[in-house]
Amino acid sequence: MLSSLFQNNIQPAEVTHEEGELYKVVTTFGKTFELRYGYYEECDRQSPLCDPVVIYPDFTKEPVYTDEGTPFVTMMQDACKSYRGDTKRTPDTTCCECKYFQQGEDWIGICTCIKNKK
Ligand code: SF4
Repeated sequence: MLSSLFQNNIQPAEVTHEEGELYKVVTTFGKTFELRYGYYEECDRQSPLCDPVVIYPDFTKEPVYTDEGTPFVTMMQDACKSYRGDTKRTPDTTCCECKYFQQGEDWIGICTCIKNKK
């Protein structure tokens, strides 16, 4: 089906999502997170140019820990003061560039830095 669309140079219609629509349920490191579509900023909600995007938890505002007290982080979370990455290799300073980041499912992982443990 898709291959015939591409052979005929027909692009599939872009799928848009409704605010609040479920994107995925992620279970990782013993916790479950419901990821839904929405807006990070009110101005995005007001703009006709912005469609809802997948909203990831903000663990800096609302921390969540594993049962062992290890904090959850997202890959794109701004680095904390314990960041250990190679800033010569990449200018990014987000959790996914840090040696303490351990990938879970999707863009959610945990921080294994002992200083951040509860
Ligand atoms: S993974 Fe942990 S130590 Fe590294 S930047 Fe993120 S919160 Fe900080």
